[in-house]
Amino acid sequence: MATSIKIPAETFHAHVYFNAKSKRQATQLRSRVKRAFKITDKSRNYKLGRMHDKPVGPHPCPMYLIWFKASQYGQIVPWLSFNRKDLSILVHPQLDKDVVADHTDHAVWLGKPLRLRLSRFSGKARAKRGF
Ligand code: ZN
Repeated sequence: MATSIKIPAETFHAHVYFNAKSKRQATQLRSRVKRAFKITDKSRNYKLGRMHDKPVGPHPCPMYLIWFKASQYGQIVPWLSFNRKDLSILVHPQLDKDVVADHTDHAVWLGKPLRLRLSRFSGKARAKRGF
């Protein structure tokens, strides 16, 4: 019999990191994610962010964001783990109570972990900026 397990987060982020060398691979993965999960501007379960060619917020290198609902976790996270190749991906919940914990204690890395710039979290605009 299946038990019902509750998790506190309703939404998650997957940040796909890249550098000059892996940009093409990251771009291809982005296209594949878009196709595989049929992501459009009207999608309710997923949103695909633009490519950031420079580090933003706590993210130490270029990246893009895949936003998804918790209900999709079991679909997108395994898919990313099998399709990421050499790319590092950070998967974290969006609780917004403690953004540092969201990005560390509650986060999961696919591939090689990167050192986040956690000092960038000082400031009240952080939650609204959706890092
Ligand atoms: Zn994030």
